[in-house]
Amino acid sequence: MANSTHGQLLDGRALSREMRGKLRLEIEGLIAEGITPGLDVVLVGDDAPSQIYVRNKERSCERLGIRSRVHRLRADTSQAQLEDLIRELNQDDSVDGILVQLPLPKGFDTESALALIDPTKDVDGLHTVNQGLLMSGYDGLRPCTPLGCIAMIDSISYDISGKKAVVVGRSNLVGKPVLHLLLQRNATVTICHSRTQDLAAEVRAADIVIAAVGQPELVKGEWIKEGAVVIDVGINRLEDGSLVGDVEFDAAKERALAITPVPGGVGPMTITMLLYNTVEAARKRRKKWGLSRKSEV
Ligand code: NAP
Repeated sequence: MANSTHGQLLDGRALSREMRGKLRLEIEGLIAEGITPGLDVVLVGDDAPSQIYVRNKERSCERLGIRSRVHRLRADTSQAQLEDLIRELNQDDSVDGILVQLPLPKGFDTESALALIDPTKDVDGLHTVNQGLLMSGYDGLRPCTPLGCIAMIDSISYDISGKKAVVVGRSNLVGKPVLHLLLQRNATVTICHSRTQDLAAEVRAADIVIAAVGQPELVKGEWIKEGAVVIDVGINRLEDGSLVGDVEFDAAKERALAITPVPGGVGPMTITMLLYNTVEAARKRRKKWGLSRKSEV
């Protein structure tokens, strides 16, 4: 049964508003020092969802005082032209963050395009250099969705240290980076995937569950340990048009200490962390980023 210490809703929209409010003050401070953080987004082709995501990012930047620019390239742009643009943005000192909106149209080599981005401007945190820095525990830019997951856990002052965390999904975008963020916070982490033999048993043992699979309600509510924190990254559209996560929300909410809804949970946090990374990149680039400092995530 749900009681006052159960079923707290981790509201990504409310947390985003709060974090963006703080970021706006920070940006005002930077602007007063003569530093206007700048995000450049590269959008290739006319994929409709990508257009919407990019517009949202642009609007979010403008509201906070981040200079934002979108470079729209036609779908028949060559790989070489895309790469020339990335090189140009790497050289441009007014650009703090470069984001290539994914997916690129068919025929593009995504890996080599992303590999060209200057790692100090890689606000998506997907460059192999940043992934390596994360794995080694060094300072770097972290992927936005995993950062959002940790921020949501922190929002209820839950102590991650020593807890057993289970991450379901091992993508480079979410599962693997969130594993390392949890490890840096001294959780004992298990990562599950499509070959995991007994997912229910793994989840049942977890104090923290992070689901990033892309399968509607794969994680059953009855698997959730009493008092666990549940972060649902999955976004799945059902035939009736509604959105659900990877966790069976209603049943899980009865057992969880706190849980993210879908929509309105991790989703809004992803753009917030992109804004955060852009400000981080602006500050660090100006301070001549080094690799000497161990991460304090
Ligand atoms: P992905 O690259 O497709 O990875 C999915 C992972 O799930 C894989 O590691 C896969 O295992 C694992 N998996 C598949 N079936 C499984 C099963 N039956 N049991 C356990 N694990 C299983 O997906 P992604 O990019 O990480 O995204 C995951 C979900 O998060 C999607 O719904 C996506 O839309 C959503 N997402 C949301 C946000 C946001 O802002 N809220 C951001 C990014 C992604 P294998 O490796 O063995 O194949």
